[in-house]
Amino acid sequence: MKVREIMDSKGWRVVTIGAQATLREALCTLVENKVGALPVQDGFGAVQGIITERDLMREVYKKSPLEQTRVDRVMTRNLITATPEDDIEYVMKEMTERRFRHMPVMVDGALAGIISIGDIVKAQLNHAKTQITHLIDYVAGPVAG
Ligand code: AMP
Repeated sequence: MKVREIMDSKGWRVVTIGAQATLREALCTLVENKVGALPVQDGFGAVQGIITERDLMREVYKKSPLEQTRVDRVMTRNLITATPEDDIEYVMKEMTERRFRHMPVMVDGALAGIISIGDIVKAQLNHAKTQITHLIDYVAGPVAG
């Protein structure tokens, strides 16, 4: 299965945040949009990094002032991304080995969407259910009408 299939079924919408926004704004954006990660963009729309709920949790733990700390101070800059033509196996391997749960999806170098570990689990589950249904039909044979 390709990343494109999952994106087409879950949607390409991606919520982002500006590099100069505060951690408080990032927190509100995450909560209000019910997402766990925000690709961080500069003023021209270029992706500079990613900030996730885990990064915010760490800053809350450190008692960083959320109103005064800028997103680009705490985001991860070394971004690992996927393309629509990547296999899901590649995305799962990267997420497992690098221990993160989100990957921005890029098309021609521009941000086009984001895929999460939850999206992959859901797609795999649906795929497995479809396969089981086909196998049961195959084993049962054609039903006499
Ligand atoms: P997550 O499990 O996605 O909440 O992220 C765990 C940590 O990995 C956080 O520090 C994130 O900033 C970072 N992270 C999340 N996604 C990516 C990614 N695609 N590339 C690089 N770092 C990431």
